[in-house]
Amino acid sequence: MDSKQFREFAKAAVDYIADYIDSVEDRPVLSGVSPNYLSELIPDEPPQTGEAWQEVLQDVDRIIMPGLTHWMSPHFHAYYPTACSFPAIVGELMSAGFGCVGLSWVASPAYTELEVVMMNWLGKLLNLPEEFLNCSEGPGGGVIQGSASEVTFVALLTAKEKKVADIRSVHPEISEAEIKGKLVAYSSNQSNSSVEKAGLLGSMTMRLLPVDDKGQLRGGTLLEAIRKDKEQGLIPCYVVANLGTTPTCAFDKLEELGPICRDEEIWLHVDAAYAGTAFICPEYRHLMKGIDYADSFNFNPHKWMLVNFDCSALWMRNAKHLVEAFNVERIYLKDQHKGLAPEYRHWQIALGRRFRALKLWFVLRIYGVEGIQKHVRGQIALAKFFEDLVRADPRFEVCTSNMGLVCFKLKGDESPTIKLLEEVQKRKNIFVNTGHFQGRHVIRFAICSRLTERRHVEFAWNEFCSVANILEGRKMETMDKPMPTIEIANMSCQKIREKSK
Ligand SMILES: *Cc1c(COP(=O)(O)O)cnc(C)c1O
Repeated sequence: MDSKQFREFAKAAVDYIADYIDSVEDRPVLSGVSPNYLSELIPDEPPQTGEAWQEVLQDVDRIIMPGLTHWMSPHFHAYYPTACSFPAIVGELMSAGFGCVGLSWVASPAYTELEVVMMNWLGKLLNLPEEFLNCSEGPGGGVIQGSASEVTFVALLTAKEKKVADIRSVHPEISEAEIKGKLVAYSSNQSNSSVEKAGLLGSMTMRLLPVDDKGQLRGGTLLEAIRKDKEQGLIPCYVVANLGTTPTCAFDKLEELGPICRDEEIWLHVDAAYAGTAFICPEYRHLMKGIDYADSFNFNPHKWMLVNFDCSALWMRNAKHLVEAFNVERIYLKDQHKGLAPEYRHWQIALGRRFRALKLWFVLRIYGVEGIQKHVRGQIALAKFFEDLVRADPRFEVCTSNMGLVCFKLKGDESPTIKLLEEVQKRKNIFVNTGHFQGRHVIRFAICSRLTERRHVEFAWNEFCSVANILEGRKMETMDKPMPTIEIANMSCQKIREKSK
């Protein structure tokens, strides 16, 4: 393929993406395919000779499209959002076009330097403590990683190495292995599964502590767990506090956990994967209270901040600890552009790095701070609207409502809620999933797509009500939108667009 063909192919692909996003609302949000559908549509071997891009693009429509779950659909209300915006898509495209691997400053100076500036912009936008920023006097700094899971693991490894070094500086007679065998980490039982995984991968006992009736981890609970472990001769090392848990978007009591971690010399990591974006709006910053105690802070612009996956922002109060834990070439470090630009490969697991700062830059410039604030506030308002609809129906109860996430159920016994959810999932008009709150099944309804509007929230509510009516043996209420059919699922993007015009 030469550059002339590339222009044609890429332009056609951009048109395809634009058609896709313009028409995504009309597709069933969940795919209708069965497992292994793809192997029947695709040859077992790659082609011997090259094919025309036109054929390949057609096959995207024929083979890939039917097997997509449409995260961009305004009817997608499961998990948490994954961001997708046009500026970020272009950022991804250009980054691929440059084709660099930013494994050091010299390997592509713009990669490192734009990332430094973007992490400062972003840190200021969230009003993080000054010490976290690259531009501050001290050893703090920010870096872009691939995912919150990776970050939780990286912070755990850093905490571990720091704890070993601290103890051995006072007790050189105790071996590294002996210390490592006694380290313990803590988080709440509402934490993301990746927190438990970080403990597994990092060989550190991870205690998932009970929460209060609001889903928050409290200081007293942590203190008690630490006391018990110390009695056993174990060494508390790492705490992961949640600002916005995955099940219900609950906020741990950071101002209670923080002083305990400081007194006990425990690394405090704050996981704000989803909700962190809301701190761009000053009215939500009170939820960050206690952040001054944190050693590391993380949120995912790729969840709620309109930056396509992957882009997870991590700041360290003292990045030296991270570099000491991860650097395998300490001798050379001394004369590396001292203090000018970080060598980010020592801040992460992999050697190679993508140019993630580019899409962040595009999004921040093209939306502006106000554009992102508007997006966040708009989505929270939609969740509030949904909450009001639920509250107005005496059959239902709202269990929690935080940010863009509402958890609710049918009143009373939990089996009707499970049945309701199953039926809604079968119909595939909207996509929601289940969660647990206080040991009960709840329906998690999240505002995800940036395309979701009030009418989609009404549609979703209508869907719940219709199914509830059917289950109660009442007649199905008419819906204001015909159910999407499998025929549409298999239609090309262009056709759908023409049809809906
Ligand atoms: C989504 C989520 C994660 C996992 O994020 P990834 O970037 O996919 O690893 C971690 N913690 C919380 C609180 C989350 O909501």
